[in-house]
Amino acid sequence: MYDDDDVLIGVDPATRLPYGVSRYYASLAEHDDPDSDPIAAQYAPREAEGDTSPLESSDPIGDRQYEVTPRLVHHYRDRALILVNDRCATYCRHCFRRHFTGHGAGRLSAGELEKACCYLSDHPEVREILLSGGDPLMHGDEELFALIDRLRTVRDFLIRVCTRMPVVLPSRITESFAQSLSYRLPAWVVIHANHPREITGEFERAVALLLRAGAPVANQAVLLRGVNDDAETLEALFRGLQRNGIRPYYLFQGDLASGTAHFRVPIERGIELMRTLRRRLSGLALPTYAVDLPAGGGKVPIEANLVRTESDRYIFRDANGAERSYPREIER
Ligand SMILES: *Cc1c(COP(=O)(O)O)cnc(C)c1O
Ligand code: SF4
Repeated sequence: MYDDDDVLIGVDPATRLPYGVSRYYASLAEHDDPDSDPIAAQYAPREAEGDTSPLESSDPIGDRQYEVTPRLVHHYRDRALILVNDRCATYCRHCFRRHFTGHGAGRLSAGELEKACCYLSDHPEVREILLSGGDPLMHGDEELFALIDRLRTVRDFLIRVCTRMPVVLPSRITESFAQSLSYRLPAWVVIHANHPREITGEFERAVALLLRAGAPVANQAVLLRGVNDDAETLEALFRGLQRNGIRPYYLFQGDLASGTAHFRVPIERGIELMRTLRRRLSGLALPTYAVDLPAGGGKVPIEANLVRTESDRYIFRDANGAERSYPREIER
């Protein structure tokens, strides 16, 4: 199995993230130098991961602060997120949930699921459940669909499956998986593609199965230095997604995760890239450029919420109208 060959690398506990890549994903790299190959950069550890800044955190978006029962994160009123599994088929070096991913918490236990269901039955405002992790598709089909079926006994939730499998291990999306999903609509699948080279024939086949099953597919990309921080790459990525029926949903500013400074792109640069893309692409191919504000400030669209730029920080307005800062000096 592809998840048996992860090797833990011994670095700072705050940045510790296992090393692991599927054979398929590694085959997309032209060579394995992370400094010059946009695919290798996403799976091959670099020394720079050891450079951490006090402005960074192992939990940059404040998941822990909104964890209402073990592994159930309720941050936004009508949506709650379950950390289904801590394993992934490939460990992204830019992972922002690195306080959890691959740290050995394993699968959601039956007891944790019952606690989560209990909370959810007391909170009718929750209409949508995000299955995340790690990658929920590291569960086998039977276990994953049993989890969805248990949740649906609480309420007819909209299910959002957040998975990188179509990108890193498209063979995981089988006919039988798609058929089982088709019995459990409404369900959306949100994937994570960052580079046009990830749009392969295998990827297209996997996505077509999901779409044919009746699950809309959306993509969340992360703006990463040396991977996709130029207009041509992003244009090709978003065009390729749109052509395959995938809605480019978010382009995220890299979160302030420990040991990821080498990936970060200045926000001014991101805004400039979006301006260029807006001239070149249909609105259907344009994602929202967003940032998850530090310390649990929440996700906000950058262009609409940037209030002003100071020498050492950006000031954003959060969803409640309050001003919150995002540091500027750790960009290099
Ligand atoms: C990002 C996120 C969501 C989903 O937000 P959308 O804007 O609907 O994509 C839900 N819960 C948590 C905890 C999140 O981090
Ligand atoms: S697939 Fe998601 S959870 Fe897993 S390492 Fe990549 S970003 Fe992190």
